[in-house]
Amino acid sequence: MRIVMLGPPGSGKGTYASRLTSILGIPHISTGDMVREEIRAQTEIGRKIKEYSDRGELVPDKIIIDLLVERLKKPDAQRGFILDGFPRTIRQAEALERISEIDVVINLNVPDEIIIQRLSNRLVCRKCGAIYNRLTLKPKVDEVCDLCGGELYQREDDKPEVIRERLNVYRRSTEPLIDYYRRKGLIKDVHCNDLMTPPDVIVNKIIEIIGGLKKEK
Ligand code: ADP
Ligand code: ZN
Repeated sequence: MRIVMLGPPGSGKGTYASRLTSILGIPHISTGDMVREEIRAQTEIGRKIKEYSDRGELVPDKIIIDLLVERLKKPDAQRGFILDGFPRTIRQAEALERISEIDVVINLNVPDEIIIQRLSNRLVCRKCGAIYNRLTLKPKVDEVCDLCGGELYQREDDKPEVIRERLNVYRRSTEPLIDYYRRKGLIKDVHCNDLMTPPDVIVNKIIEIIGGLKKEK
């Protein structure tokens, strides 16, 4: 199954994708994580893209497409994948089309108020990338990852001014993809209108959608 997760920043793409990956046995490929890893490791690419990412802007298409193409060549991605954060522009979607088929695009619909509450309270594990939330998904011990004991921190781009910019970028550059994929008949809409909805409720909805697609085949 080749799945694209589409939705605004803070819609839960990463949280759901990381749970789906263990259920479906296919890798979770997050271009946001790849970007943060390049920055952390201070690679040549990392140095080029840090400013874009810190400001909440998109990294240039060419750089991100090259990273993704390399990632999709790896053996674990041959049986399928869950893409989180890619594509984010029509150009990226066209590039993806040239290298792989897509079976379904899960479009997460989440109101802005929820997004802002979620992102401004989000914490991420420095070591393993696990995602927490001060309101809804608290770690057992303050500021410590349940899974690996790593330190939790707030992402540079989860500061309030940057959140606003990321939402603008989403509206401008990424939202047009909804129509693009709807015309291809690939969109399945999932709604989340309540901040307190537990992730597993949404994950189960997605699993049902995917189960339905498998039967159709
Ligand atoms: P979000 O929580 O906003 O969905 P991500 O973790 O997916 O954020 O991405 C963080 C940052 O990494 C983005 O703001 C952007 O700078 C960069 N990035 C990630 N994926 C892409 C992409 N497909 N195209 C361009 N930039 C990207
Ligand atoms: Zn961790």
